[in-house]
Amino acid sequence: MSTDRKKIIIAVDGFSSCGKSTFAKAIAARLGYIFIDTGAMYRAVTLYALENGAIRSGMIDEDAVVRLLPDISIAFRFNPERGASDIYVNGDRVEGKIRTIEVSNCVSGVSAIAAVRQKLVALQQEMGRRKGVVMDGRDIGTTVFPEAEIKLYMTADAKVRAQRRYDELTAKGDRVTFDEILENVISRDHADMNRAVSPLRQAEDAIVLDNSHLTVEEQMSWFMELYHRVTNA
Ligand code: C5P
Repeated sequence: MSTDRKKIIIAVDGFSSCGKSTFAKAIAARLGYIFIDTGAMYRAVTLYALENGAIRSGMIDEDAVVRLLPDISIAFRFNPERGASDIYVNGDRVEGKIRTIEVSNCVSGVSAIAAVRQKLVALQQEMGRRKGVVMDGRDIGTTVFPEAEIKLYMTADAKVRAQRRYDELTAKGDRVTFDEILENVISRDHADMNRAVSPLRQAEDAIVLDNSHLTVEEQMSWFMELYHRVTNA
């Protein structure tokens, strides 16, 4: 399908845990596009900062994080077993370590550091240079690719989002409580919307998708209509 149509950039922004990655991944698979989870990149930097002493007892030493940045090299590699890309830091696969509550509690603080954003935005722009990408995050349609042909802004009720994240973590065997997850979801929304550098906000030309009560299949048929309209224009 993607071969006889021009390749475009699809930006998927929105709140935490509202199914952005699941949906963006499904779109990429359907169109034969590359999926890039930019949240995983901010999480990978946060994990590296935690493992290298730049975050202690939840306190982020911003100067120390900035000093670590030149040592951090991030890459994605397709994992055929998962049917998705895994994230690597300096050649180490960290996919299984970046979604813990410890990383989640620190990632909004790390992602508010201007130098962190500068480095990761440049990398994201390079990854999308040849188009044919679905990129999910918070500032893709506003900062990374303001010229993206399709911009989606996803949202869902905070409790619905917390329940999804809770189910995901407990299925993996993580010992967490629903209240702790809900608190993390709400505080990350607040931090992401109120930071000075590229806060989460809806791009003027973004289309809002509230998926509180929609299945991925329902979202997909809605999206494919939009995609055909945009690429036939
Ligand atoms: O998407 P996910 O919830 O994994 O993202 C983790 C965190 O990374 C977000 O809460 C946000 O603080 C940060 N982030 C960001 N900009 C992006 C993607 C994620 O600031 N483009």
